[in-house]
Amino acid sequence: MFSISADPAGNKDQTPRKFAFRAPQLPYTVNDFVFGKLLGVGSYSKVVRVKKKDTEEEFALKIMDKRHIIKENKVSHVKTERLVLDQLCHPGLVRLFFTFQDAQSLYMGLECCHGGELFYQMMKKGRLSIDEASFYIAEIVEALEYIHGEGVIHRDLKPENILLTSDGHLKLADFGSAKIMKPLPNGFIQNDPEKTTFVGTAEYVSPEALNGRPLTIGADLWALGCIVYQMLEGKPPFRAASEYLTFQKVMARDFVMQPHFTPEARDLVNHLLDLDPERRLATGSMGYAALKAHPFFSRVKWSQLRESTPPKTA
Ligand code: ATP
Repeated sequence: MFSISADPAGNKDQTPRKFAFRAPQLPYTVNDFVFGKLLGVGSYSKVVRVKKKDTEEEFALKIMDKRHIIKENKVSHVKTERLVLDQLCHPGLVRLFFTFQDAQSLYMGLECCHGGELFYQMMKKGRLSIDEASFYIAEIVEALEYIHGEGVIHRDLKPENILLTSDGHLKLADFGSAKIMKPLPNGFIQNDPEKTTFVGTAEYVSPEALNGRPLTIGADLWALGCIVYQMLEGKPPFRAASEYLTFQKVMARDFVMQPHFTPEARDLVNHLLDLDPERRLATGSMGYAALKAHPFFSRVKWSQLRESTPPKTA
């Protein structure tokens, strides 16, 4: 499963070729690690903090049961996540160090994000201040700028999939739903028809995804707009009693910004939650420069973001 071999895009030579992976598949076994706390559970994995016995290095080990992955039709999710994390490298993304497998399970050795999910911080804090929100959103913007530049759309951006390091900086995680739009550095191009259908989470899904329109980076920018709103309001803009009713709200762009939204925050949300994906900030000819120059970020020092002190955690 983890040693994928296929033809990169444009490769006329039909000889199967092994891709160059940065994070190697290693001959490790579970006995090489001391198992610690359960960090989280996903729909097809559990993630445990582990320490490598010989080097004492700490990792978040993502453990996926092979039978469950096949039964739940998640094989392409696992391959996509492995490929994307292996090929992309940025301080705003969770790093993959190695993979291994045994008869029952696949394992991914990930950088351990001790601060947990951004979701929990948002739940604990209720509403974030403009300073807190602009810092966090700026870190997400930088990570999106990078992945979009590499031709990768995350497609499931939400506070549960954004993790905090021990010092409080943010990292994007869970790339299982990602769409790869151009060859990755190792030449891999996704050729997966299933990936044109709706994936993601109802409250963050874009209207064009619901209408079956082609996927663009606009999908992640819509989700970003939902997260800006949620940070300032304490709940996402589109929430209803059922998925169906949530979709109705999304398509009608039915949300209200309360008076405590500053004019800059209001303008940013309006320009990210635009029904037309081509009019969302960062999709125009100026690209991410337009988004980063928005007055909502006036106090953000973009060049020193990762060296700055993040908001205090709750
Ligand atoms: P989903 O159902 O969202 O597709 P999944 O099976 O792909 O989930 P993840 O979302 O990758 O699993 O991980 C499940 C949870 O484990 C995360 O929400 C997070 O709380 C925790 N987790 C994942 N990766 C890390 C990490 N590198 N460091 C710390 N915790 C992590």
